[in-house]
Amino acid sequence: MRIMLLGAPGAGKGTQAQFIMEKYGVPQISTGDMLRAAVKAGTPLGLEAKKVMDAGQLVSDELIIGLVKERIAQDDCAKGFLLDGFPRTIPQADAMAASGIDIDHVIEIDVPDEEIVKRMSGRRVHPGSGRVYHIVYNPPKVEGKDDVTGEDLAIRPDDEESTVRKRLGIYHEQTKPLVEYYGKVAEQGKLTYNKFDGTQSVGDVSEAIVKAIG
Ligand code: ADP
Ligand code: ADP
Ligand code: ADP
Repeated sequence: MRIMLLGAPGAGKGTQAQFIMEKYGVPQISTGDMLRAAVKAGTPLGLEAKKVMDAGQLVSDELIIGLVKERIAQDDCAKGFLLDGFPRTIPQADAMAASGIDIDHVIEIDVPDEEIVKRMSGRRVHPGSGRVYHIVYNPPKVEGKDDVTGEDLAIRPDDEESTVRKRLGIYHEQTKPLVEYYGKVAEQGKLTYNKFDGTQSVGDVSEAIVKAIG
């Protein structure tokens, strides 16, 4: 099963990805997590990406497409995968199609911009795993600590309000056109496209996803 999550920064893609991975047994391919790992490791790719990410902009299509293709070629993706944060532009979607990498289910999570801005100020992440929490809506068992490892949680540098607003602008400009793009592919009967109200509780969104894709 090949699933793709589509939604604004902070819509809850990473949160639902944790659930979908366990439920359907497919690996998560989070381009954001992959880039942050490269930044942390100090690789040339990471050094190139860091400035762009901190500024809330998108890294180049070429770089991202290469990264994802390499990841999808790995053995654990043979039975399917979950794309989280990719494709994010029309050229990225075209590159997938050109490589014959078809998607079975597109899951759009919709949350209004003002709600996103509120959410991001409370987001905390576990850098090692990408697990994500919210200080009010989805708190860890122990304040400031990851539930699984007990390690410290962190605030992402790009979650500062002005950067979040910039990222939302880029989302509407460059990523939102994918709604129409995949909507058309769905009309041809080639994949299922489902849109979910992401302002519901985490559990209610998960439940609605299972109902829709089985
Ligand atoms: P969020 O979960 O808040 O939407 P991500 O973790 O997916 O953010 O991405 C963080 C940053 O990594 C983005 O702002 C962008 O700079 C970069 N990035 C992630 N995925 C992509 C992509 N598919 N194309 C270009 N840049 C990306
Ligand atoms: P064509 O017949 O022109 O090759 P299709 O009608 O098969 O293209 O599909 C239209 C576009 O959507 C093409 O770019 C195609 O690669 C892409 N596409 C088709 N099916 C899927 C899918 N399941 N997932 C992602 N992209 C797809
Ligand atoms: P994305 O991957 O789309 O950027 P995240 O999954 O990281 O989004 O979620 C952004 C923030 O919102 C996190 O702090 C997360 O705990 C919180 N969150 C996710 N889903 C919900 C929800 N349904 N209701 C309230 N808060 C949520």
